[in-house]
Amino acid sequence: MPAYDDQNIFAKILRGEIPCFKVYEDDETLCFMDIMPRTDGHCLVIPKRPCRNVLDASDAQLAAVMSTVKKVANAAKTAFEAEGITLQQFNETAGGQEVFHLHFHIHPRHDGVSMRPPGKMGDMDVIKGHAEKIAAAL
Ligand code: AMP
Repeated sequence: MPAYDDQNIFAKILRGEIPCFKVYEDDETLCFMDIMPRTDGHCLVIPKRPCRNVLDASDAQLAAVMSTVKKVANAAKTAFEAEGITLQQFNETAGGQEVFHLHFHIHPRHDGVSMRPPGKMGDMDVIKGHAEKIAAAL
């Protein structure tokens, strides 16, 4: 597996070199909105310490990330009055990963509503509002 590349976009977000719509952070993890949201409330949880994905993550990183995933998933479910939550997580190119810093996708879901196709930039004002809505439910 290739070494961690500290020029990936999430490493730049962690260093404050590019902006994000922050939802939550603690000492070990950060949650921010996906800018190509496949659902309303689509957000990402990442560890602050570097790792590519689940395959090289430490047990401590995974524990910290999953704790934040659970916290934010419940807040997003409340904020969007969702009936369920879908988590997505991809490992290496063959596994569908595009950004090589470990991340979990959180999607609030409603019965009978499909996820939108990937790759379409969202409206930044709407995404900002969704970040505030989840943060308020935390
Ligand atoms: P994947 O590695 O397949 O989980 O895909 C990376 C995800 O990161 C996609 O859902 C992108 O929309 C998202 N993404 C890429 N750049 C940014 C960014 N600057 N801020 C927030 N999300 C991003």
